[in-house]
Amino acid sequence: MTTTRRDVLTAALTAAAGAAVTSDPSLAQQHDHDHDHEHQALPPDPALRVKALESILVAKGLVDPAALDALIDTYVHKVGPRNGARVVARAWMDSAFKQRLLADGTAAVAELGYGGDTLVVVENTAKLHNLVVCTLCSCYPWPVLGLPPVWYKSAAYRSRSVIDPRGVLREFGLELGDEVEVRVWDSTADLRYLVLPERPAGTNGMNEEQLAALVTRDAMVGVARVSPPAKETRV
Ligand code: FE
Repeated sequence: MTTTRRDVLTAALTAAAGAAVTSDPSLAQQHDHDHDHEHQALPPDPALRVKALESILVAKGLVDPAALDALIDTYVHKVGPRNGARVVARAWMDSAFKQRLLADGTAAVAELGYGGDTLVVVENTAKLHNLVVCTLCSCYPWPVLGLPPVWYKSAAYRSRSVIDPRGVLREFGLELGDEVEVRVWDSTADLRYLVLPERPAGTNGMNEEQLAALVTRDAMVGVARVSPPAKETRV
């Protein structure tokens, strides 16, 4: 299976870029032994594979590069975690909205103009911490968080988040006590998750815009908490 995929990728890269790509059938066999180096003869990461596919689709006239650029620009610059941050801040300010958000995330974020995915919102509390992953690939709530970070797509995050979520969180700098239950949510193409983080202390006088500025992408994936405003932490 692995060898087949490698062969396909090799052919794809060669056809797309005209690049000289080494196709060594012995490479697959070398994976049977222990080693700590990476083989570089074939595309090592998803970005290269995507580039190869993109090149073929463009060459065949199936995809317009300008349309692709516009799509990527939209998600990088116009859509992004700020949308999700606005959703979170609204929920912190408006308890009725928060109830609607937890009952039907899709409908509630549509109130703010964000849509496209079936969305479930899970709330973090002092006793419960939610963590979002896509074990299969990289499903992510694009309309509210934009493009997923590289680590979200990594095999390590996807596998270890379900095996050892507390260990993964520790590596992100979040140490949870035993009294906090951890729940891991596995996203799919049909169902995406957004974490509603806990509102930090020291934010009572803040308006929605100020609150939204505190909310990070990582907190909405569940690998971090929202930190209190800087002035408050010096007390
Ligand atoms: Fe996925």
